[in-house]
Amino acid sequence: MNKILQYVNVTTSYNGTPVVRDVSFSLREGEILGVVGESGSGKSTLLKAAMGLLGPGGVVTRGDIWFKERNLPDLPENELRRLSGPELAMIFQHAGASFCPIRSVGAQLFEAVSAHEEITEADFREKAAALLKKLRFEDAARILESYPFELSGGMMQRVGIAAAMLLNPSVLLADEPTSALDVSVQKQAVEEMLLIREMYHTAIIIVTHNIGVVRAMADRVIVMKDGRIMESGDTRDVLEHPVQEYTKKLMAAVPRLRLRRGA
Ligand code: ADP
Repeated sequence: MNKILQYVNVTTSYNGTPVVRDVSFSLREGEILGVVGESGSGKSTLLKAAMGLLGPGGVVTRGDIWFKERNLPDLPENELRRLSGPELAMIFQHAGASFCPIRSVGAQLFEAVSAHEEITEADFREKAAALLKKLRFEDAARILESYPFELSGGMMQRVGIAAAMLLNPSVLLADEPTSALDVSVQKQAVEEMLLIREMYHTAIIIVTHNIGVVRAMADRVIVMKDGRIMESGDTRDVLEHPVQEYTKKLMAAVPRLRLRRGA
């Protein structure tokens, strides 16, 4: 399988303090890669570095992040912004909360999509409803007509995940996308991301502290500590036969969502 995203010796700092240190790994087309590690180990920073979202004081100080023959940290801001959405998309823990409360979900999604492609509102609504149906939302038309406060937080988070697919990016970077959800909605969100990979062959990096989510979704996993990769490998190997003491402790400490593949 071809590599779609490749980190090569990446170091990032905030105000001169390194938080990701000499990290190298790659994501293959259509692969789901889990990233786990204690809080503050640099997982979120790793994703933000690719999207140019480190914020003030944050910088990639060394290394390359290759995406389709482009080194992302070298790209000018406007070029990176053009890629954000149609090529690479990031989903946050509170994706649903980024919707404005006083406009319908459909109107906001139309605005976001029409910033990247020419499409009439009628065509957009058809496309968005078809996508939601494919991702097993019931009553897609009603969701698009609703205001965010009319839908549950869990539903809005699931809509936020689906919305990323309206522009059909080849890579999704998901930062704790299920962590704020009830267990039942967590399961639906995991199924939604698995369907996304299956239907669109999207490669996904999922940062999560939930080993159950990693077990249910990820093909491979990397384990981070203090900005470095401690251990990596096929999910089953790493979860069932961790080599590092740190990974063993992590497995014992984190919540386990009972999710089985295909369940
Ligand atoms: P994780 O996702 O593993 O919890 P983060 O990538 O969010 O870890 O954070 C890694 C380290 O970088 C932490 O020590 C955190 O305090 C620091 N950090 C994160 N964001 C910023 C920021 N915008 N400015 C300064 N320090 C930050």
